[in-house]
Amino acid sequence: MKDYLKEAEEGFSPLLAIEEASRCLLCHDAPCSKNCPAGTDPARFIRALRFLNEKGAAEVIRENNALGAICARVCPQEKYCKLGCSRSGIDKPIEIGKIQRYITDFEANLKMNILKKPERELGQKVAIIGSGPAALELAALLRMKGYSVTIFEKDEKLGGYLRYGIPSYRLPNDVLDLEIKRILDLGVEHKVNHRVNDEEFKKLKELYDAVIVATGYELAKTLPMFETHHEVELATQFLKRAKEMNGDIDVYSDVLVIGGGDVAMDVVTTLKRIGTPRVIDVVYEEFSEFRASEKELAEARAQNVSIIDGYVPMSYDGITVNFKHRHLDSVISIKPKHIILAVGQVARMQFGLDYEAGEVKTTNYRVGDSNVFVVGDIAHGDKTVVGAVKTAKEANYFIDNFLTKERAK
Ligand SMILES: Cc1cc2nc3c(=O)[nH]c(=O)nc-3n(C[C@H](O)[C@H](O)[C@H](O)COP(=O)(O)OP(=O)(O)OC[C@H]3O[C@@H](n4cnc5c(N)ncnc54)[C@H](O)[C@@H]3O)c2cc1C
Ligand code: SF4
Repeated sequence: MKDYLKEAEEGFSPLLAIEEASRCLLCHDAPCSKNCPAGTDPARFIRALRFLNEKGAAEVIRENNALGAICARVCPQEKYCKLGCSRSGIDKPIEIGKIQRYITDFEANLKMNILKKPERELGQKVAIIGSGPAALELAALLRMKGYSVTIFEKDEKLGGYLRYGIPSYRLPNDVLDLEIKRILDLGVEHKVNHRVNDEEFKKLKELYDAVIVATGYELAKTLPMFETHHEVELATQFLKRAKEMNGDIDVYSDVLVIGGGDVAMDVVTTLKRIGTPRVIDVVYEEFSEFRASEKELAEARAQNVSIIDGYVPMSYDGITVNFKHRHLDSVISIKPKHIILAVGQVARMQFGLDYEAGEVKTTNYRVGDSNVFVVGDIAHGDKTVVGAVKTAKEANYFIDNFLTKERAK
């Protein structure tokens, strides 16, 4: 249980953070900043830290990204800011996420309050359905402008997959709680244990000036051969169970995991951290095609998970799962004590919205000419936390324009 709560990566000490910042080449038109989907502007916060201005650095992060401490820990930086880092051409890219983490930890330790309450109330009301990263970022932005914002969340606590998906050893609860507290302290209202149904959605559209749908990819996918076997657990259910109990859940002696993305890596690493003796992960992709981020795959390997690549499940009789290789003439059979499926998530299609390839059809995040807007995984983008923040920042512009015009009528 303790291993589940222990943060996977250590943070920088002040000396190491400043040393790392001093490796920055201070590029003009910095590619790291251009490569951050949320516009968190690493070039500016790293420059501030180089000049020992930690407070200024914290202000840069927070003004650009209300979830800066979370992104510092969970962003797949090798695809974004670090990919752009010019220092890669000399030796290795700057550890941007760890610097961002050091600065946001400094901000937390000093109890800095950078997000500011609105100076005036605009008198218009916005309802946000869901409370994942897109909803939280948007709630902060709209509230700071002076809109009254109410979040409706079906679960007991706010956060979406930040709360119930990403394991605590990668995103500690106290980091998440503080980010959410700062947003609620702006005066954002919230109702939890409150699933909005189609009927209530219609009412919200009449009662609120704008309704934002930020309901994410709620449903876990399955495979036909496992559908009638209720003993087979879905990855998101397992991760939620582990997170709610701080990793203190029953351990099977051996578990088979099917799937090879980041969620599968979270499942196998969680299983090892809670003490599962034998974990086998069978993956459709071959190693050269792997979808999981480098960091997550490395962590799974460090935990001695057996990863078998390139195999497709063929049949399951309630005891044995048979797999065949995608290209070779090879079949394997596994008789695990427990099975967890990690083969992706999809949106629950709700509120009569028009979906295409898992995303709601919108123009500039707006559904037709209604007062409904959509953000997060169901809007568009790359299905990451920083991608969700990006959709919220972009949608904020269009929602504010829409509400400003409505006020002028
Ligand atoms: C296990 C796991 C690990 C991940 N790890 C990473 C990572 O390391 N880095 C990364 O960048 N991304 C990661 N992701 C992806 C990332 O979490 C998502 O892209 C992101 O959370 C999407 O944000 P969102 O705001 O669209 O909604 P979500 O986080 O999906 O939240 C949607 C919320 O809406 C609520 N909701 C749905 N329907 C209703 C309703 N009718 N009424 C009220 N509430 C409702 C849900 O309960 C939920 O709280 C991970 C995802 C999973 C599942
Ligand atoms: S928010 Fe994420 S992608 Fe952007 S600079 Fe920070 S760690 Fe990099």
